[in-house]
Amino acid sequence: MTILVIEDEIKLVNILKKALKNERYAVDTAFDGEEGLQKAMKNNYSLIILDIMLPKKDGMEVCRELRAHHINTPIIILTARGVVGDRVQGLDLGADDYLIKPFGIDELFARMRAVLRRRKVVESSILKIADLVVDKTRHEVTRAGKRVQLTPKEYRLLDTLIRHSSHAMTRRQLIDEAWGPDFVEANNELNVHIRYLRRKIDPANAKPLIHTIRGVGYTLRESHE
Ligand code: CA
Repeated sequence: MTILVIEDEIKLVNILKKALKNERYAVDTAFDGEEGLQKAMKNNYSLIILDIMLPKKDGMEVCRELRAHHINTPIIILTARGVVGDRVQGLDLGADDYLIKPFGIDELFARMRAVLRRRKVVESSILKIADLVVDKTRHEVTRAGKRVQLTPKEYRLLDTLIRHSSHAMTRRQLIDEAWGPDFVEANNELNVHIRYLRRKIDPANAKPLIHTIRGVGYTLRESHE
């Protein structure tokens, strides 16, 4: 796990670096907003600790630009005491949490763990492509905000397709993963269930998400044509 610390106070950076390394995190640092933004866009960090008052580009702008580029790395912002607006604005811009300076290292670690835990749950339980959402915890599927009722077999097909979205899946891969390797297909069952699934997921007025790849199988992806 590598943490990016974007902070211009060298003393604080050194304290954070030492403490994080003690907790077995790898640490990368940036001392101004521009450098921080570049690093955050280029590398895949587990979490970003982001100061608000930074040279070249402030933390709010860094946060806004990262989210605008769909970089969803968890962000904890560091803000000065009493600047309530900063906290609210930071969260509005997509930060996950904030800490008020000066803060204790233990508090930082507690917030980091909470943010990482929360992120893990969200990542594993809600899958999305275009306006199709599969909530795995609730076994709920919606397209454009409308609830879609699926049979268990259809649900497992969709779940498999969305987990591998944009990848072509062969018929056998799809059956193995959705229904199990022991499943013996009879009467073109897969085609039948895909047809049912399509009717529900891709209504006539919506852009189709399930695509047939002739001679291969199927894929779930956003079509741009
Ligand atoms: Ca600062």
